Amino acid sequence: MALAELQALEREWVIPTYVRNQVEFVRGQGVSLWDDSGVEYLDFLAGISVLNVGHCHPRVVAAIQEQTAKLTHVSNLYYTEQAMRLSQELAQSSLGGKVFLCNSGAEANEAAIKLARRHRPGGDIVVLPDAFHGRTYGALSATPQEAKQAPFAPLVPGFVVSEKDPAAIDAAIGSRTAAVLLEPIQGEGGVLPLSAEFLQAARAACDREGAALIFDEVQTGMGRTGTLWAYEQTGVVPDALTSAKALGGGLPIGALVTGEKLADTLRPGDHGSTFAGGPVTCAAALAALEICSEPDLLAHVSAMGERFIAALEELPFVVSVRGRGLLIGAELASGVSAIELARRALLEERLVINATGPSSLRMEPPLIVTEAQIDEAVRRLGRLVP
Ligand code: PLP
Repeated sequence: MALAELQALEREWVIPTYVRNQVEFVRGQGVSLWDDSGVEYLDFLAGISVLNVGHCHPRVVAAIQEQTAKLTHVSNLYYTEQAMRLSQELAQSSLGGKVFLCNSGAEANEAAIKLARRHRPGGDIVVLPDAFHGRTYGALSATPQEAKQAPFAPLVPGFVVSEKDPAAIDAAIGSRTAAVLLEPIQGEGGVLPLSAEFLQAARAACDREGAALIFDEVQTGMGRTGTLWAYEQTGVVPDALTSAKALGGGLPIGALVTGEKLADTLRPGDHGSTFAGGPVTCAAALAALEICSEPDLLAHVSAMGERFIAALEELPFVVSVRGRGLLIGAELASGVSAIELARRALLEERLVINATGPSSLRMEPPLIVTEAQIDEAVRRLGRLVP
């Protein structure tokens, strides 16, 4: 169907919550996407860190095809090998406790909020400015952004916002605090890494007060920053983490993973979801997790990230570059609109990136991106602002 026809259908039938770009994609492979005219694009957004393994990775495709032909769904009232094995692999790859599977990042954070309230009934949850934890009510209440929250008040009570400095987080955590929920690198906020001092202060105050420290690794996890989980590079181990996005290799799945201390905090009947832990998404996730755990790939992410950051820093219209591994944000010189640049990158240079604010670009290519593709992306960006 032609783009104009899709736009007509959208105008008539789609609740207009998304502002879409003027492109229809029909195929993806590795780091490439193709539009309906057969034009190839370099995908340096990867579905906002969903396609960490690249589009249509053969091992993920094979796992999905094989499982789809055998069993697509069964209620959580019964066992499947895929859900049990994925829970084991996720726990063993990170905090060593137990896992609740769900369908998205917001849902994983909802489970984390419930975990926190079971841990300390009625307790507060401390969150940070610039955070993004999702659009459902609990996750939105943990996302202190006026534009996203205000139209939907009243929100869930009991969320406390702390400034992002060590003394502030120390003071914000007290005997009423059930949990601190944070992204080790704030993705939607503009790729803003939290400092080691800040995370250590949060850890120490949680230990002192018996609060749970929960990392939202929905965007930073699955190898994105050069280790399977971003917390591994911070020197701080959380009590629980949430994962989604890249976990399913392109299919929708989320997970709450606990350490041993919180492994049995949620009890039978406390939480659930019809589609959670379905065999097809779990089969895809088992394949994606295996690929993203490979030491060679993780070393490649770090090397490619360094190359990419160094090349971006050379662009005359880039003021500074933030991030770790292949989660990268670039701050642009005044007068250069990130929103306009991302739009032109797509339409003029066939490069998929996005803007997290008026002056800030975000780039998250698949982890399998090559040196040549990074150099080409930087060349294409450079041509946009001569
Ligand atoms: N948490 C973080 C850190 C995210 O970046 C996102 C999505 O961008 C979410 C949670 C929400 O995930 P989902 O859109 O799958 O609900």
